[in-house]
Amino acid sequence: MEFNLEKLVRPHLKDLKSYATLRDIYVGEKMFFLDASENPFGEFNRYPQGNPVDLKTCLAKINGVKEANLFLGNGSDELIDFTQRIFCEPGKDSILMMNPSFVMYEIYAKMNNLKIEKLNLNSDFQLEKSAFLQTVSKTEAKLLFLCSPNNPTGNAIEDLEFYIQNFSGIVVVDEAYIEFSKEVSAVKLLEKYPNLIVLKTLSKAYGMAGLRIGIGFASEEVARLYNRFKPPYNISSESQKLALEQLKNLPQIEENISKILAEKERLKNSLSQISQIVKIYPSEANFFLVEFKDAEFAYKKLLENKILTSLRHPALKNCLRISVGTTEENSKLLNVLAQI
Ligand SMILES: *Cc1c(COP(=O)(O)O)cnc(C)c1O
Repeated sequence: MEFNLEKLVRPHLKDLKSYATLRDIYVGEKMFFLDASENPFGEFNRYPQGNPVDLKTCLAKINGVKEANLFLGNGSDELIDFTQRIFCEPGKDSILMMNPSFVMYEIYAKMNNLKIEKLNLNSDFQLEKSAFLQTVSKTEAKLLFLCSPNNPTGNAIEDLEFYIQNFSGIVVVDEAYIEFSKEVSAVKLLEKYPNLIVLKTLSKAYGMAGLRIGIGFASEEVARLYNRFKPPYNISSESQKLALEQLKNLPQIEENISKILAEKERLKNSLSQISQIVKIYPSEANFFLVEFKDAEFAYKKLLENKILTSLRHPALKNCLRISVGTTEENSKLLNVLAQI
């Protein structure tokens, strides 16, 4: 597919100057910082680094890319929003997304006044190639959001490369759960496809949802666009500092992932014994989509026992999305479910 970035970026952004600050160049030097109307007193008085170099260096290394291919958001949610705002004209452009999939693509699209076109997944929650090609031949959507492993269904999308290849706009592959799966990250495909953007997050497998850090990967050209238009200080200094501290201990993070995966296996085996459960969908993530005889009832019973699950997606009848918790949490969950 022919790819033309110029044609995809919203035209009025071409001449828009970003909020320039020279501060980052001087960070670490003994200087009088009288440039940003900060309060000279206090523990948190300074703005954070606008371009968090240390954190970027660390994340680039972990993911095997150059820093120039990275951009960071206040959670990957913010990057989903930016992506729409960089490429799509409100009231005119549209996005293409899978159904069911992560609801935030749709919520942001509504906030940004974009049209939404949906690709219905088949009974295995996979995309259908022929239906996809048919849709693509008719659509003018500028963005395609693919979520793999998909939330809320849990499965990885097969043959991602086919969809990236056959879409002439920007393809966003959201890999919020990739660290839990057997799949290889699409970051590997960046050199091959200039229209590809990959999103990851520190919120799930890295265990830092409270810090709000999302990671975007793209060609240097596309990454520059994000870095130019993002809010100047979108990652707080505390988040930068704490994330770096946590990332120093990767073995601990990996150990926690292994624990979650072991619990996931146990949970699956035990859930399959429960008579109220009709089906446990295959999952490459740290949650299960579970079909119940009566999901509403199960949801209420769990809630009465102080266990909150997710009954969220309108396209999925009688299903709950249940995260894998600690051994104690999972045992309690199983106990309550066994009794209904
Ligand atoms: C949780 C999740 C995100 C994440 O979020 P953050 O804003 O980085 O916390 C993005 N995409 C999907 C599919 C998710 O499930």
